[in-house]
Amino acid sequence: MPADSHCHLNDPAFADDREEVAQRARDAGVGPILNIGYDPSTSLEAIELAERNSDMYASVGLHPHHASMMSPQLATEMENMASHERVVAIGETGLDYYRDRSPRDKQAESFKIQLALARKLDKPIVIHCRDAMEDCLAILRAEGIPKAGGVMHCFAGTTQDAKAAMEIGLYISFAGNITYPKAQNLRDVIKTIPAHRILLETDAPYLSPQKKRGKRSEPSFLPMIVAVVAEARGVTAEDMGRVSVSNFNTLFLQGPGGKGEITYKIRDSLYINVTRECTNECGFCVRFFSDTLQGHNLRIDRDPTAEEMIAGVGDPRDHSEVVFCGYGEPTMRLDRIKEVARWVKERGGRTRLDTNGHGSHIAGRDIAPELVGLIDQVSVSLNAQDATTYDEICLPLIPDAWIKVIAFIKSARDAGLDVTASVVPVPDKVDVEACRKLAEDDLGVRFRVRPYNLPG
Ligand code: SF4
Repeated sequence: MPADSHCHLNDPAFADDREEVAQRARDAGVGPILNIGYDPSTSLEAIELAERNSDMYASVGLHPHHASMMSPQLATEMENMASHERVVAIGETGLDYYRDRSPRDKQAESFKIQLALARKLDKPIVIHCRDAMEDCLAILRAEGIPKAGGVMHCFAGTTQDAKAAMEIGLYISFAGNITYPKAQNLRDVIKTIPAHRILLETDAPYLSPQKKRGKRSEPSFLPMIVAVVAEARGVTAEDMGRVSVSNFNTLFLQGPGGKGEITYKIRDSLYINVTRECTNECGFCVRFFSDTLQGHNLRIDRDPTAEEMIAGVGDPRDHSEVVFCGYGEPTMRLDRIKEVARWVKERGGRTRLDTNGHGSHIAGRDIAPELVGLIDQVSVSLNAQDATTYDEICLPLIPDAWIKVIAFIKSARDAGLDVTASVVPVPDKVDVEACRKLAEDDLGVRFRVRPYNLPG
């Protein structure tokens, strides 16, 4: 950890010390690494590096700077190279109107040919886009990306650009320029992107991070980028490194890897993946888009037993809190929660329940009093200022769901539990200030705006 999703150890800049650079990356804990081809010879070199190094993969591509080289013969040659099993992507390709080293019509033609190759081989497309976002997105929309997806590398656009790219199905990759003092705009953009859509890269030998600015970049510098990104997103470098590897595996190796996790750590909290079932189908719920949350594979194939949850907790005092959460509604397994929470409390740990507030409906009785002494904090997803909005964004599977959420918050408050009501600020739907007023003034509980896909 972390994974370098875009670098060029295949570049002549590393001709004299390629092996030493690769070893420095391993010593810094960086890997896997994707070496990106940008012309025929660097594509071949990337493949040879991947054949010699189990922690490296290759892409085959023709950079927009070299787009004038594209021909039917070269397209055939690229297809032959790209069929190699260690080639996990096509590109980099795209549009570069900043340098304009090839005519724009040639850039577009080469881009379309490589998109077609990526679709044919169903390998992700790696996109270089500089000062050409509008045309780039138009080509992607018109031509279509491979089912395997793709990535907008070295992202330097706006939040709206990132949103448009994600709607097409792309990941967004950030490079060393996000560490530059004047790049606050990029640090603001990355805060808005769901964790399961982020990749990190050095783009070595280019774009060294701020601490090494002016020097040749190399993959061992990636932790400097990770540290800046982690700080911007309010998570740890370990969290961000894990996200980068999980997303690398998902995009380029066709799966996050590993089994679904029963317990998982984010920052210094330990989360328990209690169940896969839920009484809502919220439009923003990450479980509908991704197997991973903050780089953890949460796609369990069955609900865990209490013994399995306890085994995953270890010593409860090693965590700031133990949170009952997961890819579903934990109160669907109330008895197991109470059993594990009791075990945690007896050993001096702190507990939190993240719930949609449907627990009393599910149990057929008021469950709030049963949580007293077992759960230190309850976070309830209020999610909307009224029942109509709640039904629109949460698609509840139970009747009168919002009314039941409000009733649970009141009951938990009256039982003396420490309650926080939260919302995800879904644009044009959720009136955050109305929700805040409802929580703080009318219900008398704390209020929190939750960023999408960032628990805690
Ligand atoms: S209540 Fe939570 S787990 Fe259930 S669908 Fe909504 S966000 Fe997902």
